[in-house]
Amino acid sequence: MTKITIAKGDGIGPEIMNAVLDVLEAAGAAIETEEIEIGEKVYLAGNSSGIAPEAWDIIRRNKIFLKAPITTPQGGGYKSLNVSTRKFLGLYANVRPCMSLYPYIHTKHPIMDLVIVRENEEDLYAGIEHQQTDEVVQCLKLISRPGCEKIVRYAFEFAKQQNRKKVSCFTKDNIMKQSDGLFHEVFNEIAKEYPEIENEHWIIDIGAAMLADSPEKFDVMVMPNLYGDVLSDIAAQIAGSVGLCGSANIGETCAMFEAIHGSAPMIAGQQVANPSGLLQAAVMMLNHIGQTKVAENIQNAWLKTIEDGLHTTDIYKEGFSKQKLSTNGFAQAVISNLGQVPKALKPVTFDNNAALNLPAYKRKTNAQKTLVGIDVFVHWSGTEANELAAKINSFLPAELSLTMITNRGIKVWPEGFKETFCTDHWRCRIKAKEEHTISKAQIVELLAKADAAQIDTIKTENLYEFNGKAAFSLGQGQ
Ligand code: NAD
Repeated sequence: MTKITIAKGDGIGPEIMNAVLDVLEAAGAAIETEEIEIGEKVYLAGNSSGIAPEAWDIIRRNKIFLKAPITTPQGGGYKSLNVSTRKFLGLYANVRPCMSLYPYIHTKHPIMDLVIVRENEEDLYAGIEHQQTDEVVQCLKLISRPGCEKIVRYAFEFAKQQNRKKVSCFTKDNIMKQSDGLFHEVFNEIAKEYPEIENEHWIIDIGAAMLADSPEKFDVMVMPNLYGDVLSDIAAQIAGSVGLCGSANIGETCAMFEAIHGSAPMIAGQQVANPSGLLQAAVMMLNHIGQTKVAENIQNAWLKTIEDGLHTTDIYKEGFSKQKLSTNGFAQAVISNLGQVPKALKPVTFDNNAALNLPAYKRKTNAQKTLVGIDVFVHWSGTEANELAAKINSFLPAELSLTMITNRGIKVWPEGFKETFCTDHWRCRIKAKEEHTISKAQIVELLAKADAAQIDTIKTENLYEFNGKAAFSLGQGQ
């Protein structure tokens, strides 16, 4: 008997969770549930994280968490509990299988059987955002080497375990050469360790278009957090419905299982939601905790129900479906099919679905890091970059030089274009002239001088070389 934490969540959460728990019980899953309250009610009761501290204790003690979707109230002040759970518990791999079940579920893509492995802890989901000037806000995109190594290795190990043939990586490293560049670089490094598995890289825009057009081209797909979020909804929807796909959020000690969709408040309480996404998540959970036979039994009964044309509203289509069922009606149909296997769709066997046991990340030796300059970001309401350059040059010590000013990344000085639209957010790149390196003391002095000259510095970024290689982007147009 495995004790698991469950949360019924918001919107359609309670009805799909009850339906799934009915199926788990009927299939004889050896689980004992401990329920916690999370989501909208907890947020609105004044807890900005959407969860009480005692609930964390339960999640951490049980380690396995089956979670229904929750509603994150719109607007400032509320942090997404989904993101917090993934990050607090180190659930670095978000695994989202997506398969078409044609001709039983209507889709334009009859051949589709892919798994999106989405990085789950970093990228723009660090949620570090600031308004810096009247006109500009910033969201920090953080990509780490451990984050990349862990997720890429997971994708290849998963492909190996599941006997899948190809891993495709998706980034935008033609633009984000440092951050997405690191993800791609790590992908290339780790791919070499798996010569038996084909590998390829797609720029995310054309890659997403290709997924929407020809999903049969893909097998295992690995990508940073935001791209994975977007692409997995696309994949689920083109397979038939976002209501169909489940996900596993896997960490070294804990794991959380949920549908990929949200709380769908518009259809809540009407018994029309499809419980399949959460049921698929529960099947992944059973495999994860070693209850393979129960997982197989449920999955085959589910496939048979789909094949029999017993469908919820979201996948019901004249000519494809036989009967439109409610949320509970669908769960009861799955229950009555337990012990049976689909006739036309391929029955599943889950011999290779145990939890993966990956090596822990090993920290590398530190590189030789040299500080060679600083980007000083300035809030300035002027329009002529020449004026700002002159202002900065008026107090810059002889050993430092202003090499460039950009506005939203595009070079506007020296030799900017008068057509370039400028906001009140300017980046001034200052570098050491002769010595090549600059000290922290010089930076402090520089900032004091800027302050005395009434320059409103809003932030700085140090410019480093790692092992002699510049580790910062050029200005666009530089
Ligand atoms: P959503 O996924 O809830 O709904 C999008 C569309 O898909 C709607 O038309 C909905 O009716 C339909 N849909 C979703 N699940 C379905 C199901 N099981 N059966 C049938 N149709 C289904 O996305 P949204 O409307 O953008 O978000 C609603 C709320 O959910 C927001 O508060 C959002 O923050 C939250 N959300 C939570 C999670 C989570 O808890 N993991 C994930 C995504 C969104």
